[in-house]
Amino acid sequence: MRFPLGFTLAQASYQAAMKRQGRKRYPTVLMLEPLYTCNLACRGCSTERHTGKLSDRLSVEQCLKAVDDCGVPIVSVCGGEPTLYPELPELVSALIERDKYLILCTNSLMLETKVFETIPPDRHLFINVHLDGMRETHDFVCNRPGVWDHAIAMIKQSKQRGYQTWTNSTIFKESRIEEFEELCDLLTSLKVDGILVSPGYQYESVEEDVFLNLEQTHQKFRRVLEISHKYRLTSTPAFLEFAAGLRELDCSPYSTVNYSPLGWKAPCYLLDEKYYQDFQTFWKEVDWAWWESRKDPRCANCKMHSGFEHSAVQAAMGNVKDMLKMAAWQFTG
Ligand code: SF4
Repeated sequence: MRFPLGFTLAQASYQAAMKRQGRKRYPTVLMLEPLYTCNLACRGCSTERHTGKLSDRLSVEQCLKAVDDCGVPIVSVCGGEPTLYPELPELVSALIERDKYLILCTNSLMLETKVFETIPPDRHLFINVHLDGMRETHDFVCNRPGVWDHAIAMIKQSKQRGYQTWTNSTIFKESRIEEFEELCDLLTSLKVDGILVSPGYQYESVEEDVFLNLEQTHQKFRRVLEISHKYRLTSTPAFLEFAAGLRELDCSPYSTVNYSPLGWKAPCYLLDEKYYQDFQTFWKEVDWAWWESRKDPRCANCKMHSGFEHSAVQAAMGNVKDMLKMAAWQFTG
């Protein structure tokens, strides 16, 4: 199975509960950024995400209140670099106690000391290592030599120690899909549990010109779609078809909400129009129908996983052919 049974059932029962409550829009994933401190300064990452002071981090209580307020079954802990969060073991254990599934997104530099030595493997926990290509490309993206070799060594260790291990790749303008295929071959030989791939889209505050326009996204993702059956990609077939320009979807910015030291970010992970300090006001005041429509000019080139994966799943549930494709995808991974 592509995703573990517990993870799939938790999502399915949450979605069924939302349906019973008659909710058209609801969050599914919280992207929790407890800190804006990082030990790398990657190209394609906004400055605020790596230059924050550790003292400005969220407390564990603030993190847990955000989780409880939005009620999601899945928490993606990112940042900044979450392994630098001093209270990480406490946070992870509190999330597991709440029966939340937790995706720890990391550059892997501190995995050994900050995770392997302090946080045991658990069925709720997924280690998700950032890996944007083979050695030369990844080290270029990370602006530091040796990061790729370290990440591969940590993925091997993570698997050996019994952690569920995923990787996360962004396809940029200069990315070659042949290289992504080479990376997938390597990751498959290392028996990673999932490979997440998403098109790079420009944050407002990023200066590097490394991001894809719409045509480039379609071209590159047509090839990703062709090779997707060979690998354990975690992106659904419907999302990959959308990224390849073969189907249209509305955006679901409400499905992946973002909370950081600045508050609840609106309208989505990519655009920071406004930050709200409490979840209820954020949820009530954001004009979700407008952002769903993708009429804002800044949405024109966007095909981000965080905005469209939920739409892809909902669309697939609406017709038998797509449902069968989804079932085959889940059971053959
Ligand atoms: S299309 Fe992209 S930029 Fe626009 S709201 Fe959706 S996720 Fe945000």
